[in-house]
Amino acid sequence: MNEKRPLLLHNARLVVPGQATRAELPAGAVLIDGDRIAAVLTDRAEIAAATAAERIDLAGRIVMPGLINAHHHAYGNVLRGTENALPLEQWALYTVAYGRSLTPAALRLAVLIGAAEMMRAGVTTVLDHFPYVRVAEAMLGAYEESGMRAGFAPFIHDRFDHDILGVALPEDVRRAWEGAGPLPSDEVEQRIRALVGAWQGRAGRIRILLGPNAPQRCSPELLALWRRLAVELDLHVHTHLLETLPQARHGRSTAPGGTVGEMDRLGLLNERLSVAHAVWTLDSERELLARRGVTVVHNPTSNFMLGSGVMPLADYRRHGIAVALGTDSANSGGRLNMFDVMRTALMLPRPVLPSRDWPEAGAIFDMATSGGARALGLAAETGQIARGMKADLVVVDGGGATMVALAPNLVGLVQHAGPEAVSAVMVDGRWVYRDGRVLAFDEAAVLAEFKSITAEITRAAQADVALATRTVPMFERLYERNDS
Ligand SMILES: [Zn+2]
Repeated sequence: MNEKRPLLLHNARLVVPGQATRAELPAGAVLIDGDRIAAVLTDRAEIAAATAAERIDLAGRIVMPGLINAHHHAYGNVLRGTENALPLEQWALYTVAYGRSLTPAALRLAVLIGAAEMMRAGVTTVLDHFPYVRVAEAMLGAYEESGMRAGFAPFIHDRFDHDILGVALPEDVRRAWEGAGPLPSDEVEQRIRALVGAWQGRAGRIRILLGPNAPQRCSPELLALWRRLAVELDLHVHTHLLETLPQARHGRSTAPGGTVGEMDRLGLLNERLSVAHAVWTLDSERELLARRGVTVVHNPTSNFMLGSGVMPLADYRRHGIAVALGTDSANSGGRLNMFDVMRTALMLPRPVLPSRDWPEAGAIFDMATSGGARALGLAAETGQIARGMKADLVVVDGGGATMVALAPNLVGLVQHAGPEAVSAVMVDGRWVYRDGRVLAFDEAAVLAEFKSITAEITRAAQADVALATRTVPMFERLYERNDS
């Protein structure tokens, strides 16, 4: 599976940093040594003279940096087909009900099923925001096995939405949801320290982040732990932020500067923080995010599916805020297809903006690559085809039905490419997917194993799913229209 080194990918079109949206992609070659890009060559004589142990001719192909899915919950990959026709707070009842029935074996399969889908769609790096810190090792082991680059952000939280949003639950329902209750903060700290000690940098591909579920879902004690651990363990942080209108109403009613103002007061906003969604920020909150260098992760397909709202992308860009893109969960966004996410992000602002303010395809492509790398703290490692960067590369075949008519440029890639055009994927200089086959692990065995446990997952979740169905109406008033 591993090629001779140095390896030269030549005769391709390259997506290089600073590529203008409509300009033709330059022809050239990428020289790979070990796990990194040793040179990017566009001069014919230099390419002919390059010393390589293996040369691969990519005539008619595009080589682009691997896409980065900067917000994802992999456990949801085995919950596809469960409830997703409800707003977030009610949807979450089901995802929690199913999620807590998943065994370590099921979680491993969730990661690998997601990895197979993402590799086929040209994704080389994913940021997994993971709720169940108790079983994090199963997930991390699966990421190591997957061949992908992964940021792993285990949840920190000790507050429930029903309390935060003032939903009165009958005592037995409340007890059933709260179960054994959240972990005490010293135990959370101990577990995160252990994960960082054992997994930070593993295989050159695993990166641990802090993953507070959302600021309002953390007690003052956990907010202090968040701030302290990020510094002491030198970690980037990833959290949900203002995904829905009820969350925004709560934030504005409890803190004068809203949720973001409160985070700033607590010293939580900085360049190492990325926030998923940020659909319902006030302009003053966007200004603060800009001033502190926070990255916003836009999840347009998930926001559509759950009816959460439309993130004001143009406002974020006007403030100069770094934006990344994510799929969110497979059971909230539908697919882990970053081409879909790019196309949706491209189109979504159009109905309400003059055309001069529409985002360009090049800007959207940057969000899905270098923007994601920034969110993970990997901007110097991945997200661009440049000398010294990790060789995380995707080969796109421009000759198929969806792309044959196109000039080779970013407009074509963002508007027309999809998983069917991806012919090979390399992570860390190693081919993980090529010509229709996942090379990093046995995909067929993973799918077969999953089929053998689906009935078991449904059975294990049955009582909690019934509880979710009983609880849904209790959350309904959150979305009554008359008090928005
Ligand atoms: Zn999420």
